[in-house]
Amino acid sequence: MKHPTLIQTPTQTQFLSVEDVAALVSQVGIAATLQRLADYILEDYRRWQDFDKCARVASHSSDGVIELMPIADAITYAFKYVNGHPKNTRLGLPTVMAFGVLADVATGIPVLLSELTLSTALRTAAMSAVAARALARPDSKRMALIGNGAQAEFQALAFHYLLGIEEIRLFDTDALATRKLMRNLQHTGLRLSACTSIAQAVRGADIVTTVTADKTNATILTPDLIEPGMHINGVGGDCPGKTELHPEVLRAASVFVQYEPQTRIEGDLQQMPADFAVTELWQVLRDQAPGRTSEAQITLFDSVGFALEDYSALRYLRDAAAALGLGQALSLLPELANPKDLFSLVRPASHEQAAASARADAEPALAWAA
Ligand code: NAD
Repeated sequence: MKHPTLIQTPTQTQFLSVEDVAALVSQVGIAATLQRLADYILEDYRRWQDFDKCARVASHSSDGVIELMPIADAITYAFKYVNGHPKNTRLGLPTVMAFGVLADVATGIPVLLSELTLSTALRTAAMSAVAARALARPDSKRMALIGNGAQAEFQALAFHYLLGIEEIRLFDTDALATRKLMRNLQHTGLRLSACTSIAQAVRGADIVTTVTADKTNATILTPDLIEPGMHINGVGGDCPGKTELHPEVLRAASVFVQYEPQTRIEGDLQQMPADFAVTELWQVLRDQAPGRTSEAQITLFDSVGFALEDYSALRYLRDAAAALGLGQALSLLPELANPKDLFSLVRPASHEQAAASARADAEPALAWAA
């Protein structure tokens, strides 16, 4: 049993566990959480120039990737640790797992340490909705959702609550994943149907979300499946050698990205030549570039997950958890009467203890010297 504790000193770090974030979502409600996250993301994207940005740092292995995602403005620094291991589900582990930190730029104090596995699913869905609000046809009612794993319910609900999507046609190579999704969302008011092929799911859709996991150049969407006016929300192609869209789908569409230098490496965009034109989404959100310009235009959000969404998510979690009294104070940093006296933490309290520890230390020290 955990008891919420207020941070007592500026050197303590607020910690939000998976249970804390789940409690936060249950108290705020999923629709309101997604809406608040979308608000925070929009607010931060509209002040894009304030941020010191870089593509995430990736460590690749045969079955997956581990990534660090840093970003900062003048006041707050954030980073996320995240992995992507599509084979993990066979081991009983999620494909994507994450945690993150929010820190004070002026002092370097980590003010918040939070789980970000659940929060990544929420923030990715909120980000998809922010992009689709700017790019999809406003009368969109039907979505195809290809890939029905861990992220999928969050995507479905963000499009339902924030975009007004009423019907979702589902496909996954794993029928059990689709069944799980239909069970989880049976009371939401969404009309859900399981399809037997990608083509069946995509036919007649206003929006197509691809959120599959496979470390390969997959072709979930081919050009023959794309209809005039569609908005494609491509979420699963997010790593070198891991894509979801046939290159001709990108050629048929106007392509929007989060941070171009990162998407060129990681997105479906990695398949295209270096001069293939894209628009960074912040420009559309700040009315500095057009989004959708006609009913028939095909728009594509080549989502890879950018550090700014995690900055926004951590900022939201900090504010919402403080308002609800969730989380615990964590002693990550030393509290020192004299900041130059770090040794005080291990200094023996009495002469007797000092003598005893000197005797205990003598033996390994002599062995080292020998
Ligand atoms: P998951 O493993 O829980 O689910 C993926 C699903 O895709 C599985 O059910 C699998 O059966 C299905 N799938 C695999 N190949 C398929 C195919 N050819 N056709 C249809 N279905 C197929 O993974 P998840 O946590 O839901 O993540 C999904 C993807 O989204 C991953 O690739 C992950 O890296 C990516 N992701 C992107 C962002 C972002 O910000 N862009 C954020 C989080 C996750």
